[in-house]
Amino acid sequence: MKNITVIGSGTMGNGIAHVFAQYGYHVNLLDTQKEVLSKALTTIADNLDRQIRKELVRSDEKNSILKRIKTYTNIRESTQDADLVVEAATENFDVKAEIFEQLDVFCPKTCILASNTSSISITKIAASTSRPQQVIGMHFMNPVPMMKLVEVVRGYATTGATVETIMSLSKNIEKTPVEVNDYPGFIANRILMPMINEAIYSLYEGVAGVGEIDAVMKLGMAHPMGPLQLADFIGLDVCLSIMKVLHEGFGQPKYTPCPLLVNMVAAGHKGVKSGEGFYQYTSGSKELKIAERFNK
Ligand code: NAD
Repeated sequence: MKNITVIGSGTMGNGIAHVFAQYGYHVNLLDTQKEVLSKALTTIADNLDRQIRKELVRSDEKNSILKRIKTYTNIRESTQDADLVVEAATENFDVKAEIFEQLDVFCPKTCILASNTSSISITKIAASTSRPQQVIGMHFMNPVPMMKLVEVVRGYATTGATVETIMSLSKNIEKTPVEVNDYPGFIANRILMPMINEAIYSLYEGVAGVGEIDAVMKLGMAHPMGPLQLADFIGLDVCLSIMKVLHEGFGQPKYTPCPLLVNMVAAGHKGVKSGEGFYQYTSGSKELKIAERFNK
């Protein structure tokens, strides 16, 4: 496997392109607009500088890593020689289904088609192609260059050979792959999201404040950040869409998204990316500031 196409150059796509290029793969990075792609290349260069400062990457490697990444806005051109495609476009089934339909037409017959989806069914995505046996979940964690886990999701029709290829590729880029089956939320988000949703319910019901809830989980459970801060980092819109997948997929009331989460997303308070969630991110200071409305 030499040529890897990454679809979507947002938060996850640029990290995935970065890591593959760092380990010697030729990467074609695709997005819908040139400006988004140049922003992604700047982010990758900045993140490489950070790795160089931490002595994780040698400074003389930076240019060759960046040279291995080519950018595209045309899906056909970006995929014609691909051995593997990793799709990291917006978390929406219709967007992904349309991309996979096109990939099935443009990619070589032997190409494996992977999705970095956080929660959408791999089996359902695979059904929009004629090669469901070669469709798999390759769920990286954010930030990709730092986080070791790849949750490898086996769809209903994914073959053992496809799983083996992706497990060994993940090891080649020094990640730790863990194989799971394709059920709503897989493992990572099936366990993480109900915890975050429960933290939001605890706030909504007045059991404790933002600072108290996060302090209990940080100090008591040794979590590196509290669930409300983590929700802000992931994006409250992303958290809500994952809860909806769990709720719809299992049909159980325990997965009902908290009404406070629903309201915050409707109001455009999505966490770090919008400047405010449970905390405020607009002051420019590094100190974590609880959002005014949650300040007792
Ligand atoms: P993002 O919004 O930062 O980036 C998505 C990118 O996809 C955008 O740049 C958008 O322009 C592009 N895009 C949309 N439609 C496209 C198309 N048809 N062709 C090419 N590019 C297209 O989103 P993100 O946070 O990087 O998430 C991407 C995927 O990764 C989602 O499936 C998400 O669930 C998953 N994921 C996200 C995280 C996280 O912490 N953000 C973690 C793990 C997995």
